Amino acid sequence: MKHCVITGSNRGVGLELVKAYLSRDTWHVHACCREPEKADALRELVTSNLGRITLHSLDVTNAVLVQKLGEALSGQPIDLLINNAGIMGGDRQTLGDIDYDAWAHTLAVNTIAPMRIAQTLLPGLRAASNAKIVTISSQLGALSYISTGKYAYNSSKAAVNKVMKTLALELKDEGITCVLFHPGWVQTDMGGPSADITPCESAQGIADTTDRLTIADTGGFFKWNGETHPW
Ligand code: NDP
Repeated sequence: MKHCVITGSNRGVGLELVKAYLSRDTWHVHACCREPEKADALRELVTSNLGRITLHSLDVTNAVLVQKLGEALSGQPIDLLINNAGIMGGDRQTLGDIDYDAWAHTLAVNTIAPMRIAQTLLPGLRAASNAKIVTISSQLGALSYISTGKYAYNSSKAAVNKVMKTLALELKDEGITCVLFHPGWVQTDMGGPSADITPCESAQGIADTTDRLTIADTGGFFKWNGETHPW
């Protein structure tokens, strides 16, 4: 069995990523979310996929819980980490009306947590052969993408792009592939009902593209459908 860890797995793109990996019969999924006891959809998957999915309690900003996840997976080779958990960062992020505390929290969730989790799980990633670290970013984090407002969200995704690009360089010689994805505009609580694609389409595309990644792709920024995303 290969092992993958997915954060923010109780709803949205994260939940569909869990289903995508369970549908590949060689994977064991470590599904992380803030409140596993209330994650009904995940709990149903545990029942219908006995022995193939483990739930972990994880608020990605909680260093103690990240450490506990690392301890729970100690000695376990980890083939794939997907940093999916993310927040939009609230309404007050336009010029003249910025909630700086909310901005700091957005950076904690979207930028700092993916690095803390990757670093904590590094022993397991190093123990697997050809491990991959996938971080769900956004087109709004691309410097070439023209948009106004959303200072907190856009900067948090631009920053995580740089963080993961740097990590990719540092881990390349160890054979660990580290990439970023724009998941598309997705019909989730974050994307809203008018978005372009379903969470299932997004997750399937990300999983299919991830299957094909090699170390030659490390440091890349991709769309859910496998196309290269401009920086
Ligand atoms: P949703 O809002 O539907 O789901 C967000 C997930 O992140 C939930 O599982 C949520 O858990 C979790 N989460 C938020 N904060 C934390 C935290 N502190 N600790 C642990 N988990 C947390 O978002 P999407 O599924 O749409 O988004 C998934 C990823 O894709 C995000 O990184 C997002 O930025 C990115 N993205 C999405 C787009 C879209 O159109 N939907 C477009 C571009 C990027 P809980 O239920 O506990 O709140």
